[in-house]
Amino acid sequence: MLCQRSCAEELCQGCQRQIQRCQRSDTQWQEALPLFVWGVYGGALKRAIATLKYENQPRLARPLGHWLAQTWLESPQAKIKQQLTVVPIPMYAAKKKQRGYDQAELLAKHFCDFAGLPLQPQGLERIRATEAQFTLSATEREQNLSDAFQLGRGFQRRCPAAVLLLDDVYTTGATARSAAQALQHCGIEVVGLAAIAKPIMKDDSQSDRPKRPMKGA
Ligand SMILES: [Zn+2]
Repeated sequence: MLCQRSCAEELCQGCQRQIQRCQRSDTQWQEALPLFVWGVYGGALKRAIATLKYENQPRLARPLGHWLAQTWLESPQAKIKQQLTVVPIPMYAAKKKQRGYDQAELLAKHFCDFAGLPLQPQGLERIRATEAQFTLSATEREQNLSDAFQLGRGFQRRCPAAVLLLDDVYTTGATARSAAQALQHCGIEVVGLAAIAKPIMKDDSQSDRPKRPMKGA
């Protein structure tokens, strides 16, 4: 789906290798909203996510969701909670209708298939269309997103004790914090956010740290 080579799976060996090179697990589990990230938003991984979102290739969610689940299962975070329900951060309904699918929901589905965790795709509802985030400053983003979410239909009758949020790309965290707050207001513990990718920020000390060798690299 990313190149012209034909193959039986969603991605050929070459593209898989290129995406795997973007893998750099980034865990910031001490933050107010703990964060678990699979890779760096750049190169082949950025291309794969863009293709999934904007080029009508929902099948790309399968390998990406599985890889995120694989690293999640190998992490110490996977062992902290027994009862964890996975909730994707939803798009605005009209936007989903236009695209035909919600990529975070698809990623969460494949994540749960692989990790053996329960999925609640309707745990959250985005109640306000938000402006394109990239045009706004950090403060404006927070304002733009406050009260953008409410508890979804899936949790109207029965709430889980603990939730792991899931999204495709983590940027400033404003969206994730807003989504977490909507659940926390209802007494649901949000253990953190798992995301496929996170851009390297200018002020990110992460890039200066020595990189650990990847498994299988
Ligand atoms: Zn390929």
